[in-house]
Amino acid sequence: MSNDNLMSDKITHWIRPEIRALSAYHVPDAEGLIKLDAMENPYTWPDDMVEAWLQRLRGVALNRYPDPAARALGQRLREAMAVPAGQALILGNGSDELIQIIAQAVAAPDRVILAPEPGFVMYRMIATFCGMDYVGVPLAADFSLDREAMLAAIEQHRPAVIFLAYPNNPTGNLFDSEAMAAIIAAAPGLVVVDEAYHAFADASFMPRLGEFDNLVVMRTVSKMGLAGLRLGLLAGPEAWLGEFDKVRLPYNINVLTQVSADFALQHRDVLEAQTAQICRDREHLWQALAALPGVTPFPSRANFILFRVAGDADAVFAALKAQGVLIKNLNPAGGPLAGCLRVTVGRPEENAAFLQALQSAIA
Ligand SMILES: *Cc1c(COP(=O)(O)O)cnc(C)c1O
Repeated sequence: MSNDNLMSDKITHWIRPEIRALSAYHVPDAEGLIKLDAMENPYTWPDDMVEAWLQRLRGVALNRYPDPAARALGQRLREAMAVPAGQALILGNGSDELIQIIAQAVAAPDRVILAPEPGFVMYRMIATFCGMDYVGVPLAADFSLDREAMLAAIEQHRPAVIFLAYPNNPTGNLFDSEAMAAIIAAAPGLVVVDEAYHAFADASFMPRLGEFDNLVVMRTVSKMGLAGLRLGLLAGPEAWLGEFDKVRLPYNINVLTQVSADFALQHRDVLEAQTAQICRDREHLWQALAALPGVTPFPSRANFILFRVAGDADAVFAALKAQGVLIKNLNPAGGPLAGCLRVTVGRPEENAAFLQALQSAIA
């Protein structure tokens, strides 16, 4: 037998079947394209702010391990994110890592992670990585939370963890807060409210920490303009977070991220002006999409808009790309996302280029 066949036998034997069945998380190459696919903030910083940041980096001791508890940054985040007094905080290498830490802490055979669908794909993927079962509960046709279906699924599956993205990705809407409170009250385990898009939403469960013994709130700095730093945070009761902190690798937040995020949050008026601009441009973009024949945008409280096209969505996506505009094609997911595409709100000139390309793609 050839070496290749021997290796393939070993892989088939040792790599778990559910991992072999996965396809890797695909990030398309955006080289040379207008990049409106990944919910990034399109704006950079003023020159004097960049200079002040580089000055701060000069003082960083790269030869030393970072502060394992990232105390200075933690304090800055408490203030910037209005974490209620008395609630604990842990940080992750992106909120993706926090999802992984939570799953690792609860994982056992036959245990369930539950989330509404369509939703954020990492909940399902990380459940699989950790050997857990995943249950997706369909949203209603308008992408609102199906309260009765959620409560029935909770009763049936007794999930260890429920993830509720608020606003939801890829749909962009905010779920009804009363329905969420009913779900938190009915859940036998932990409920994670994932507020990745908080900067654009004007709604939060952060002030409600302490009202429930099984609620934690997750945020990230990615969508507000610091995606390259990889930093997420989880706020909630010390009793839960103390357990999660044991699973966290000691130096998960590197020293460049600690210093840079602290600096950026010190200047968060700049980031807040950018996110406010994005919210205004979201409204213009939504109106422009609604005015196009055969295009139906869904309401958004995030920095992206999901929309359905009447024709062949794959062809529209390809035509946009051929014209130099990269968005996200959700048509392959099928079901309620059939015919759907998702565009991130970019700079006004990028949004205009997207609209022009879309107009010609559907003509
Ligand atoms: C983007 C996103 C995240 C991941 O954020 P990172 O902090 O960049 O890992 C988490 N949840 C939802 C719903 C997201 O859309």
